[in-house]
Amino acid sequence: MEKVAAVRYYKSEGLVLGHHDLRDADRLVTVLTPEEGKVGAVAKGARRPRSKLAASVQPLTQACFMFYRGRSLDTITQAEVVNSFRPLRRDLDRLTHAAYAAELAGEVARERDPASELYRLLVATWEALASADLGDLEVITRRFELGLLQVAGYCPTLDGCSGCGKRLGPFLFSPEAGGLVCPACMGVQKGIEVDEGTIASMKAMLRLPPGRVRVLKLGEVSSRHIGRCLEACIVYRLERRPRSLAALAELRRLRGK
Ligand SMILES: [Zn+2]
Repeated sequence: MEKVAAVRYYKSEGLVLGHHDLRDADRLVTVLTPEEGKVGAVAKGARRPRSKLAASVQPLTQACFMFYRGRSLDTITQAEVVNSFRPLRRDLDRLTHAAYAAELAGEVARERDPASELYRLLVATWEALASADLGDLEVITRRFELGLLQVAGYCPTLDGCSGCGKRLGPFLFSPEAGGLVCPACMGVQKGIEVDEGTIASMKAMLRLPPGRVRVLKLGEVSSRHIGRCLEACIVYRLERRPRSLAALAELRRLRGK
């Protein structure tokens, strides 16, 4: 009996993607972990002012958790903050970008399915978003989108036409075809226009970690073109528009971009 009980507890670092209020001051928390993938867990009494769990289950927090494996939902029995990423919650721009990344990670991760690469990508992205200049948030988010597609096995083809393999442009970009497509292969179907610079920038992004991608100094136009391609890929793969895309669009409008 004791052995069974021991197995039902497990310890893991995790990133809090979001939470919902439950009755009795409880909170249902969605956590991304490296070994268990996405975990839905109840944090009992986490809404009480003196709860020991309250700080650890805030969205956009990295913490070390002790979980108790339940039949449907797990329970968080202990937690200790590793990184509270406070700058992300103090600033609307950082918050909006970080919440978008959290939503996408939650969409791609599956329960009980290891997600160590995605975990590392999200930590690096939150770290970069917390410390970067505000002007670099867009490029960090583009890098995250590309990394997310890569981790999920949907990295767009950027080396040549995904239909015939032709390596010389011009190309169009098609989420349905999986990346670049030459006009002949595209036929009458519609693609997104991309120029050489946009393609080169996307390739360069993949070679840089999120914390360094700002060295690319993408212009606003290039960043917008890349954004259009990656957003289309994400919407196509998820089969819906992420909710936080609207918040990102509103933020760009506020900032006059
Ligand atoms: Zn082709």
